[in-house]
Amino acid sequence: MLPFARVSIIGLGLIGSSIAHAVRATMPTVALVGHDADPIVRARARELGFCDDIADSVGAAVTDADLVVLCVPVGAIAKVVGELAADLPQDAILSDVGSSKAGVLAAMREHFPDRQIVPAHPVAGTEFSGPDAGFATLFKGRWCILTPPGDADPAAVVRVSTFWERLGAQVEIMDAKHHDLVLAVTSHLPHLIAYTIVGTASDLEEVTQSEVIKYSAGGFRDFTRIAASDPTMWRDVFLSNKDAVLEMLQRFTEDLTALQRAIRWGDGDTLFELFTRTRAVRRSIVEQGQDDGSADFGRAHK
Ligand code: NAP
Repeated sequence: MLPFARVSIIGLGLIGSSIAHAVRATMPTVALVGHDADPIVRARARELGFCDDIADSVGAAVTDADLVVLCVPVGAIAKVVGELAADLPQDAILSDVGSSKAGVLAAMREHFPDRQIVPAHPVAGTEFSGPDAGFATLFKGRWCILTPPGDADPAAVVRVSTFWERLGAQVEIMDAKHHDLVLAVTSHLPHLIAYTIVGTASDLEEVTQSEVIKYSAGGFRDFTRIAASDPTMWRDVFLSNKDAVLEMLQRFTEDLTALQRAIRWGDGDTLFELFTRTRAVRRSIVEQGQDDGSADFGRAHK
């Protein structure tokens, strides 16, 4: 049985359009209404046709929905929640896909203390954004973490879980605060490091820009993919998950200092032991199907 009959998607970028494509592919009878604040995005979404209808306001998009999924940057969630407050049907479940969860849950609860709220975070994405970037298989085999409040109706949680499973994801349920700590280390810190490295390289005076680009296959290139991620989305993630990111950054800084000392004192054993452990982490990620095991991330070499 379908978990929902009428789904409303607010924010039609990479994640919103991917959800729409995936619903079309896996639950074709579900009625889909979309909305985006940007009229250019709305026009493009109409052309691409991944929703049955594109509404010009948040309110008009949600009036008939039994599931509303907010797919906007986390910094815009409070504003959108305020805009839909008057039109959200009493029995609709409110959800989102934000990359940080405690702040988002608090913003939703503030407006809707007595409604069913089941926040979600699909741990899947690419460095592209916008309505053209979406595709139906984005969530296939990826994790989707649900962070319902403690008093959420178990039936609502089951329906949202079933929805994500139908889209191809594996679902895990977690406390919002714990989610933010886990994602700070697995996603937010790596993005911050990538942004830093790419920024540092582009600021260097003794090495030219053309040399940075020419020799990028030495490792730099792989950081540039992450550092090309959407600036608005990532600004909002760091501001909304401030405490957990700062805590992880503190630990990272200490570990980096230890490596600095090992290099300075010629302590090869420390370096070798760490690099051996990190190689094993990569092997586990591939074994658990979370990445392509072929060399060089499966890039085709002519
Ligand atoms: P995106 O491609 O930039 O799409 C976001 C869309 O939301 C944009 O079209 C944006 O319009 C629109 N928007 C902004 N404010 C709005 C508002 N007040 N009302 C309606 N629409 C509004 O971003 P995305 O990658 O899909 O990310 C969306 C959410 O998914 C974020 O919360 C992010 O944390 C989460 N997420 C992203 C990834 C990823 O890898 N990208 C993975 C998991 C979760 P404008 O262009 O005019 O701003």
